Amino acid sequence: MNPAEPPLSIEGLAELRHALRTPLNHLIGYSEMLMEDEACMSDPDCNAALKQIRSRAEEILECLHGMAAREDPREVDLKAFRMRIAGPLTYINNSIAVLSTRLNGDPLADALRMNSAAGELLGFVEGKQARPSAASRIHLLSEGRPAHDRSGHLLIVDDNEGNRDMLRRQVERLGYTAMEAASGGEALEMLRSGNFDAVLLDLMMPGINGMQVLEVIQEDETLSPVPVMVLSALDQIEGASRCIEMGAEDYLFKPVSAVLLRARLHATIERKRLWDRERLRARELEDLSRELKQANEELKRFAYVASHDLQAPLRTVVTQLQLLDRKLGNKLEREDRQFVSYAIEGARRMRDLIRDLLTYYQLSTKERKAEPVSSEEVLTEVVENLAASVVETGAAITHDPLPVLLADRIQIVQLFQNLIGNALKYRSEQPPKIHVSASDEGSSWRFLFSDNGLGIEPRYREHIFEMFRRLHSADFPGTGIGLAICQRVVEQLGGRIWVESTLGEGSTFFFTVSAAHVARGLTVEHPA
Ligand code: ADP
Repeated sequence: MNPAEPPLSIEGLAELRHALRTPLNHLIGYSEMLMEDEACMSDPDCNAALKQIRSRAEEILECLHGMAAREDPREVDLKAFRMRIAGPLTYINNSIAVLSTRLNGDPLADALRMNSAAGELLGFVEGKQARPSAASRIHLLSEGRPAHDRSGHLLIVDDNEGNRDMLRRQVERLGYTAMEAASGGEALEMLRSGNFDAVLLDLMMPGINGMQVLEVIQEDETLSPVPVMVLSALDQIEGASRCIEMGAEDYLFKPVSAVLLRARLHATIERKRLWDRERLRARELEDLSRELKQANEELKRFAYVASHDLQAPLRTVVTQLQLLDRKLGNKLEREDRQFVSYAIEGARRMRDLIRDLLTYYQLSTKERKAEPVSSEEVLTEVVENLAASVVETGAAITHDPLPVLLADRIQIVQLFQNLIGNALKYRSEQPPKIHVSASDEGSSWRFLFSDNGLGIEPRYREHIFEMFRRLHSADFPGTGIGLAICQRVVEQLGGRIWVESTLGEGSTFFFTVSAAHVARGLTVEHPA
């Protein structure tokens, strides 16, 4: 250890490392960029000088890492280190001198930036305090650049102006646009007001450091969709991996390799685009489904109110027409009587339609009860309700043991009555034979209503459950709402409904009820 040098603290060593690494990164970065410049590529002397600068800077960087790897900072021999880097630095200075005589315009400005980086290193070798990179005399900010382009709009966050400039130019070469933030605070402000596709974030910054910026981005919902790529030095790998755990998209080591930068930026921005598109689609879908739900609700409310309010006036029309018919019946001509009877029939059909519509919409608007309902009792009640038709057609209605359901009794009556009513209505020449049974299928119960009626063509089997779908409209009265009601009742019992049928032989309607709506072993208790 050099006795003339005060021993280094851990923080002192970290500071020194940071201060030296920045000019070294500038030397490596600018030399790489100039190597791709046309003027330099065509000049062998420039090319050789740039290669020299890069390899010597890398040599010093390696040396710096070797020194910084010491666990105890007191073991660091600064004097030996200064001497060790003096040689490569001389090569660097000579090469920069070559460049400055051969370059013009922007490339010359880069050579001057390298010169100021080399000057900082020289200052350290000569025993002066390592200090942050001197402000470049070239204006580096990307004012007036287009805000966005198709490749992506980036925010570069680094307290070091040269680092920012180098990175910005690297990304611009890759076709991106970039803005720069010199501190964590500035970065957050810009992120809140701008629309960026990715952030390139330096970890070590005075004030709000990179990790704190990342923390704020992750916690702020409006900012968190912006992917963050952390820029760190090789020996900050722990910090970089913590950033990944915190939600950073990726990390890159400084000096940033153009090849890696290209690949990772491309992947990161593509991912963000996909994600943005997905979020947009999800939002659109959400909006659409909300609108649809609202429209549906409004439609339901309208249908309910309309059918409810139409009932009374319609009843009046039917009654008045019937009175008229009775009063004038004998005095009217045959043709006129026919007109009145058409009017009565039409008004009745309308009344039925409104009644069924109301029933259908009440299924989703009215509060449902869940009481024990004996299917067998409901079947008896339904047969009684339809007694006139049962007697008239000479129907035989049989059933197996049926379970007790936990449901709204009125709805079960509606379900059974529609199915039995249809079996009676769509009968064949034979007297109707209707059988009802139910079987336990574990997670649900399956009910079956079979008849020997007209049957249904296979292509209509699914359509008949839609509202107003009627296959035999000319020959039979009806509204086309009965099976839609059945479907809704069954769905509310956690099941589904379908039909199997052979035209001319009969149909079997099946529906399931989830086990949760079946009270096994329960018998319905009637009040005394
Ligand atoms: P509606 O009976 O008022 O016409 P539904 O919704 O109850 O309305 O039935 C829709 C259509 O399905 C009926 O018009 C009829 O063509 C057919 N259908 C229903 N049940 C049967 C059945 N058991 N046998 C033959 N066809 C039927």
